[in-house]
Amino acid sequence: MTCIEVENLHVAYGSIRALHGIDLVIQEGEIVSLLGANGAGKSTTLRALSRMIPFREGDIRFRGRSVRDLPAHRLVALGMAHVPEGRGIFPSLTVRENLALGAWTQKDGARVRQAYDQVFGIFPRLAERLSQQGGTLSGGEQQMLAVGRALMTGCRLMLLDEPSMGLSPLLVKEVFKALQAINAQGTTILLVEQNAHMALKIAHRGYVLENGRLVLEGAAEDLAKDPRVKEAYLGG
Ligand code: ATP
Repeated sequence: MTCIEVENLHVAYGSIRALHGIDLVIQEGEIVSLLGANGAGKSTTLRALSRMIPFREGDIRFRGRSVRDLPAHRLVALGMAHVPEGRGIFPSLTVRENLALGAWTQKDGARVRQAYDQVFGIFPRLAERLSQQGGTLSGGEQQMLAVGRALMTGCRLMLLDEPSMGLSPLLVKEVFKALQAINAQGTTILLVEQNAHMALKIAHRGYVLENGRLVLEGAAEDLAKDPRVKEAYLGG
């Protein structure tokens, strides 16, 4: 079943055109990586999908429904969570409070408890630090908290913007392993990453964005072998 379908998406910031009509489809259960150089429009794509910014033309259908008239918070309730670049956790709130905020759309107490169990199963370190202020966590722990908070929404689709940014190689591995576990437990993932090597390693499929246009798409293992991808994103 199709999770999200993007058709001819155009986005501009005032007179600066960032996306020039992109088309992409993600099936339920997939991990899809979106690669591209700085300024290609990767973050813009995620922001448009989660309705953080408006789009000018085209359409986005999430689980069969056009998002055109839906505000961002309604999309969260329908099952889309966005883990933004820079994580966006609340530094003065505790880990417990940050996670609780993720569950604000959930009315069913049993499902909230299930979500906590899932988060603590994937990130046991968060369970050990429930009373610690978010801002005092290490970079890797803050990333875990941001992903954990997204899981608390009960999302079916998770959009992740540069989850490996600023993390040591060991922590990058840990975060990517967590993403695979989250996917195995039923969440579809759209991943924006500078770390193309890791992003293609865990993805089923990938897209390459250049100057606001999709220029390549395919199975992740094929993209990893593609000379153009090797040259531009995998260090030759
Ligand atoms: P990076 O990897 O550097 O984050 P990206 O692929 O995510 O890059 P975007 O952040 O989506 O790229 O930016 C796409 C284009 O839109 C760039 O030319 C950028 O300068 C422009 N842009 C992004 N945000 C804004 C904004 N708030 N106002 C004006 N222009 C913007």
